[in-house]
Amino acid sequence: MESFKGLDFYNLDELLTQEEKMIRKTVRDFVDKELLKNIAENYEKALFPKELIPKVGALGLLGANLKGYGCAELGNTAYGLILQELERGDSGLRSFVSVQGSLVMYHIHTFGSEVQKKKWLPKLQKGEAIGCFGLTEPDSGSDPSSMKTKAEKKGGHYILNGSKAWITNGTVADVAVIWARTKEGIRGFLVEKGTPGFETRDIKGKLALRASITSELFLSDVKIPEENLLPHSEGLKSALMCLNQARFGISWGVIGAAEACYHQALEYSKERIAFKKQLASYQIVQQKLAWMLTEITKAQLLVWRLSQLKDQGTLKHYHISLAKRNNCWMALEIARMARDMLGANGTAYEYIVGRHMCNLEAVKTYEGTHDIHTLILGEAITGIPAFS
Ligand SMILES: Cc1cc2nc3c(=O)[nH]c(=O)nc-3n(C[C@H](O)[C@H](O)[C@H](O)COP(=O)(O)OP(=O)(O)OC[C@H]3O[C@@H](n4cnc5c(N)ncnc54)[C@H](O)[C@@H]3O)c2cc1C
Repeated sequence: MESFKGLDFYNLDELLTQEEKMIRKTVRDFVDKELLKNIAENYEKALFPKELIPKVGALGLLGANLKGYGCAELGNTAYGLILQELERGDSGLRSFVSVQGSLVMYHIHTFGSEVQKKKWLPKLQKGEAIGCFGLTEPDSGSDPSSMKTKAEKKGGHYILNGSKAWITNGTVADVAVIWARTKEGIRGFLVEKGTPGFETRDIKGKLALRASITSELFLSDVKIPEENLLPHSEGLKSALMCLNQARFGISWGVIGAAEACYHQALEYSKERIAFKKQLASYQIVQQKLAWMLTEITKAQLLVWRLSQLKDQGTLKHYHISLAKRNNCWMALEIARMARDMLGANGTAYEYIVGRHMCNLEAVKTYEGTHDIHTLILGEAITGIPAFS
């Protein structure tokens, strides 16, 4: 099979700077050399490739679009291309980079005190410390406003009680951003690993994102100093601002998974013979490939514009919802179609399509499900919220 060279039907590379193309090549080579060699085995054994964390740190991929504190200070297109290339390898490593950069580092960078920023951002940027973001609870995912986790102020401390579920990086995190209800509303807190009363446990038996750590967090009378409150976070709005950063990255990332599936389906159908001819010579197969190419190209145009709006500072949350909703759907449909085009082989770890298909089921659900983004768009169109 021919090796992956990227998919650029509309010559969108003409719109990229030399620096953006160089960054994409660096990450593409890293994924080819370091991630793809073991990913099938990692996935089967449900192992996150932790050994790659210092490497992604050294490449400057963590918090790459943030300013200062050792961050790479890249533009949003370069950041998107990084996530696209990582997710071409596996959604698990892309999820790690998204959570670390968009949910944890962005959060501390935007809402933290100078002391918090100096303490955590340089270490998180290098991959010397790991972060997680605890918003979802066992009884509330799409509706975080119904969270039960509480933080009560007592003297110069807060006492946290509650639990979180489905938290990426939970058991390996040195610092957890925990969202909890206070008298003044929902606020974000930093809870450090090893704080008495703070326990974590991995969720086993996942069908999706198997090469990623997903955990439960338990908080039982966890006492933290009041300086661990993120001083500039303002209720759930701040959590949603972090989610928007991550959703932006996911809109780019899933294009990588879609491209990988398209590439494998194309190469396979050129080689595979059925009824004495290449699969690629049949009209039904060509129709599927044409549909994939069209949808990937449309998705590329969406994120290109999304990055421009983000760079200009005019990006709205509903613009991100449209891209997250469309691009996750597109990538999942392409992965399902590619899996089918490989026949029985499409169900084996030796081929990448089944793994991407399973991952994308979770990516479609996290960071706002398809339905929740539909409701966000519905509100943007009509002015009427239909969430409850
Ligand atoms: C692998 C993985 C990693 C994750 N990592 C993190 C993380 O790091 N941090 C974190 O905080 N969370 C994380 N999550 C949780 C994720 O964000 C939630 O699963 C997601 O928000 C959906 O919530 P839920 O699972 O509770 O589903 P629910 O909210 O119970 O939704 C179930 C179904 O109901 C639909 N639905 C819900 N409300 C409505 C409505 N008003 N109208 C119509 N339909 C509706 C949904 O679209 C969905 O189809 C992760 C999840 C996974 C799978």
